[in-house]
Amino acid sequence: MTADPTHPDPVAEVLHLFAERGRHEYHGEPVSLAEHALQTAAQAVAEGASDALVVAALLHDVGHLLHDQGESATHRGVDVRHEDLGADWLASRFGRSVSEPVRRHVAAKRYLCAVDPAYRDGLSTASLRSLGVQGGPFEPEERLAFEADPHHAAAVRLRLWDDAAKTPRRAVPDLDHYRARLEALRVR
Ligand code: FE
Repeated sequence: MTADPTHPDPVAEVLHLFAERGRHEYHGEPVSLAEHALQTAAQAVAEGASDALVVAALLHDVGHLLHDQGESATHRGVDVRHEDLGADWLASRFGRSVSEPVRRHVAAKRYLCAVDPAYRDGLSTASLRSLGVQGGPFEPEERLAFEADPHHAAAVRLRLWDDAAKTPRRAVPDLDHYRARLEALRVR
């Protein structure tokens, strides 16, 4: 199989995005986008997730690295749909097992808020604020549809790692640690 000429080196693209924008603040949280990504991925590894889900965890917010709206967008009440932006970018580079849990990681928050009041109480202030912009907790029929989605379980796992990846200066492996997984999963 030959490399996709449109995206000849998606791993280099990832490294470039992290180098260029990884130090940006993760909208209202006490960590950078890169710290947040690496903490999310470290939890996926610790819980024995598949390589695809580890990469999904690492790149779940790649949409924030791609768009220029910055962290002020949510404050202005704008939903930039970073999950779709990121998932579309990922699908052509790392495949659907990576992109589809990412596409649903905001839906998973809306789902968890609907089924678990304790989950909602545990959300950070910034995450609660974005919940409103993102549509709020799921209605019962949205909940059922989400539970029937084949990517539901992966998206919920990813979401829980995401929510717990906001600790300042936590020591976790760096981006290089994930290079082999990225190489193995990239679309050829
Ligand atoms: Fe996140």
